[in-house]
Amino acid sequence: MNIINRYKLKYAALMKDTEVPLMQSRIKILTYGLIIMLSLTLIILFTSLTKPNITTIIRLFILAVTMGYALYLLLEKGKWQVSGHIFLLSLCIFIWTNLLFYATGINLVTLQLSLIIISSSFYTLGKNWGILYSSANVIPIALHMISTRLQNGTVSLTAMQIGNTSFLLAFIVNFGILIMMHYEFFKSFYQSHYKERELNAQLQQALKEAQEATRLRSDFLSSMSHELRTPLHAVIGMINVLSIENPRKDQEENLAILRFSAENLLALINDTLDFSKMNEDKVVLNKADFNLSILLQNIHSSFKSKAEQKGLDLRLKMDFGGKQVYINGDQTRLTQILNNLVSNAVKFTDTGGRVELSVTTTAQIGQKIVLLFAVKDSGIGIPVNKQEIIFEPFLQANNNITKRYGGTGLGLAIVKRLINLHDSELRLISEENIGSVFSFELSYELAKPEIAEEKSPAISTTVRDISNLNILIAEDNIINIMLLKKILDQWDCNYSLSKNGQEALDMVKTGAFDVVLMDIHMPVMDGFEASRHIRELPDPNISKIKIIALTASSDVDIQESFNFTYLDDYLLKPFSPLLLKEKLEAVVSHRSGK
Ligand code: ADP
Repeated sequence: MNIINRYKLKYAALMKDTEVPLMQSRIKILTYGLIIMLSLTLIILFTSLTKPNITTIIRLFILAVTMGYALYLLLEKGKWQVSGHIFLLSLCIFIWTNLLFYATGINLVTLQLSLIIISSSFYTLGKNWGILYSSANVIPIALHMISTRLQNGTVSLTAMQIGNTSFLLAFIVNFGILIMMHYEFFKSFYQSHYKERELNAQLQQALKEAQEATRLRSDFLSSMSHELRTPLHAVIGMINVLSIENPRKDQEENLAILRFSAENLLALINDTLDFSKMNEDKVVLNKADFNLSILLQNIHSSFKSKAEQKGLDLRLKMDFGGKQVYINGDQTRLTQILNNLVSNAVKFTDTGGRVELSVTTTAQIGQKIVLLFAVKDSGIGIPVNKQEIIFEPFLQANNNITKRYGGTGLGLAIVKRLINLHDSELRLISEENIGSVFSFELSYELAKPEIAEEKSPAISTTVRDISNLNILIAEDNIINIMLLKKILDQWDCNYSLSKNGQEALDMVKTGAFDVVLMDIHMPVMDGFEASRHIRELPDPNISKIKIIALTASSDVDIQESFNFTYLDDYLLKPFSPLLLKEKLEAVVSHRSGK
């Protein structure tokens, strides 16, 4: 009794080791199979002793010993695979010896045994062993049957040499084993299937929750960014106003520090929002024709003064020389990529260094052109062990870098994703204290010059008097109104106020204005809708009024908006007063050109 309890515990421990239903059923099939077979062999062995047939007794004895050993290995040592092989091999040898040496022929029990070998080999040891053991006993049986057919003309199932009672017992028990095996295997299959279904349901639920969490996070991020940007715009706007009010030297320095911190904070907010949109696959590339040569020249000139201040030699190299190249693609995103890379190159290169933005045509087939963009600098470089992590969000090559140069650590992560969005890769070659080269290849369709040219904004170069312009301000935020008033007062402009889109529309209808400075987010009627209504007014002199949007959205957001077409131009808040002046001067030029 003690020994039975001991093995019961061992068996329970073995089953507990594996929680996979399939494994449990394999061990169960093997244990039950061995116990039943061993008991059957012993019973037949004892009943055979009454009608002694020495070969039968020896074979049954050997079979009982091997089954017993297999059971011992399984329960005592936990070696269920070895035990399975011994079980199957002993059954195979029993069949082979029967066919080869005793020529007792094929009987029902032999066929049952071969069925047990086939099922248990597949169920307990898997596909490959299943095929091997099945062939190892089916082929000899088939060969034996063929040779009997050739010799005797017929094949018949023969009776057993053991007593009829034993035969009947073996016959019934073998069926029992076959049923037990299939039952156990089906049970495990059903359990696995049920578990899988349960897991799938849990997975679906988790996925739903994760998607909901992502949506909430993104909503939170975008509303938080908006809320943060509004007061920050006022801060930067005020800095702009103070800067043009002839500050003292010491005040100028304080304003510069204020500007640096506020602009850095704004860049962080904008980058975070852009990056989170990219992670949610919300960014799509917009295609339009544009003049690549002008785009590159604009980027070059926008960094020129910063480079000069730092004493850097900033160069632009285009292998198409003075020729204008027009392409079709996402101009805003290309500008964003190059701005980020050139800004880093300028930032991380010390006085006397050199920064070069180059564009080379690597292939041109028909209307398709492949361009290699490279931004090369002779700056501080990036250590080899940091060359991977700098592309991760918020990671910088060196913690002191933020203190010394500023930055959000998001620029390269955004650039990398944008280049991937173009189906390309950003490459980096860099050596510490020697410099860095960031490069990537993009392919574009060539565009027709006329179409691209039409869309390029005219750049006004002559300074004009804007004091006799009639300006309508559409803005609901009192701080922004105050800022605008201060700026416009400096240039003695005539302006009127409207607090929402509806008011602006009503005032425009009077025909008293040359230009509307239109905020986008306003109560009652937003800036986009007001612009659309203005464009639909019957009087063409009024409906064609210049509309310059003043928006807290990002550059990309406003250009991607389909309402963009109602606007003549836009300025991103916080804008520099000089930029506003440039836009107003363009309105004057346009008016006098009419
Ligand atoms: P950051 O806003 O800090 O510039 P980026 O993602 O653009 O964020 O850059 C991540 C880090 O990669 C930088 O902090 C800097 O350590 C390193 N890095 C980027 N460009 C250069 C460069 N041209 N030369 C040296 N280091 C660079």
